[in-house]
Amino acid sequence: MTALTREDCAKLDAEDPLARFRDEFSLPEGVVYLDGNSLGALPKATPGRVAQVVEREWGRGLVKSWSDAGWWDKPRTLGAGIAPLVGAQPHEVVVGDGTSANLFKVLVAALRLNPGRRVVVGESGNFPTDLYITQGVVELLGADERRVDPDGPELGEALAAGDVAVVLLSHVDYRTGALRDMAGTTRLVREHGALMIWDLCHSVGAVPVELGECAVDFAVGCTYKYLNAGPGAPAFSYLAERHHRNARQPITGWHGHARPFDFSGDYVPADSASRFLSGSQPLIADAALEASLELWGRVAMDQVRAKSLAMTELFIELTAGAGLTLVTPRRAERRGSQVSLRHDDGNTGYAIVQALIARGVIGDFRAPDVLRFGFTPLYLRYVDVYDAATALVEVVRSGEWRAPEFARRSWVT
Ligand SMILES: *Cc1c(COP(=O)(O)O)cnc(C)c1O
Repeated sequence: MTALTREDCAKLDAEDPLARFRDEFSLPEGVVYLDGNSLGALPKATPGRVAQVVEREWGRGLVKSWSDAGWWDKPRTLGAGIAPLVGAQPHEVVVGDGTSANLFKVLVAALRLNPGRRVVVGESGNFPTDLYITQGVVELLGADERRVDPDGPELGEALAAGDVAVVLLSHVDYRTGALRDMAGTTRLVREHGALMIWDLCHSVGAVPVELGECAVDFAVGCTYKYLNAGPGAPAFSYLAERHHRNARQPITGWHGHARPFDFSGDYVPADSASRFLSGSQPLIADAALEASLELWGRVAMDQVRAKSLAMTELFIELTAGAGLTLVTPRRAERRGSQVSLRHDDGNTGYAIVQALIARGVIGDFRAPDVLRFGFTPLYLRYVDVYDAATALVEVVRSGEWRAPEFARRSWVT
């Protein structure tokens, strides 16, 4: 299908402006890692930064480090480090808690901002936690939920009813890798008097994001996927500046207070994005995020996007005709930084992924039938893409995935 050879790929690597970043990651020998959309790889600077926080800031500085090492302000300084990656102003992003908890906070806040309306519109195929948190919020506040397919006319139809308070969508679909039109969708939602929340878990560090330009109200995202901040790393919340004085989230802990060190008896929210904070944060985990953001601060997102598209394009071309069906949109402008495939021969995707892992190519599987491959331009080479695609085609053609050991399920797929 494609004219590109492995030598062509090696040439692309030699000319790649992002190639120098690969050496900043600690990658196991002999592995092609295509699961950075689930858990990003380890930056070499991270262990040292974590050790510094533990041994110096905690061990020597003790409680003084809340001020001297900037611990108290970490949710804001780390947020300012994420802001350029999502097109926000530095004071519009705060880091804290996890994505699920932050979804709860922004959904409640958005419903309260639109008190005459009581419907939350979500998408049927969203990541389960987005669906489950929405169900919890709707039950708690006595609101209603409607699920649509955001890639068709259903969203417009739902909005036309005039009772939609808030719309929650994923910018990149975790299963299919489809990239949504943030500008057009946000405009449509806001024109209908609803508020817009974007889940950026699969887009931050993967595709350019322009929250400010698109007039988005709220966003959440995690930092352990494309941002490489480590397993369970703290997540972030974005609140457009226009909501800094009126958005009320429900977990009203002391870190969100206007004057926490007054130790007063009543809650007064801060007049800033800090009102979305709740309690003390894991500073040791923050250290890992800090190390990865230092690296991201030297990266040009347009170069990431260009290489990401070149890699996904290459993978799609090299695996075409292997008996797999492309799930991810074929048009580049509708594609995130992943390629999802389905095997025509029923529900065999899990075994194919296991057989690939045995060959050193790590992707993952998402029920019911999707083989998922994430492309991370900072530490993947074009030759890796070539080798992974070749291995996948061989695994499918040879039928080696039929071996019984590849059918055994583990807890995490
Ligand atoms: C990964 C992911 C999450 C993760 O939520 P956690 O609270 O970090 O477990 C949420 N939403 C989407 C769309 C995701 O892809």
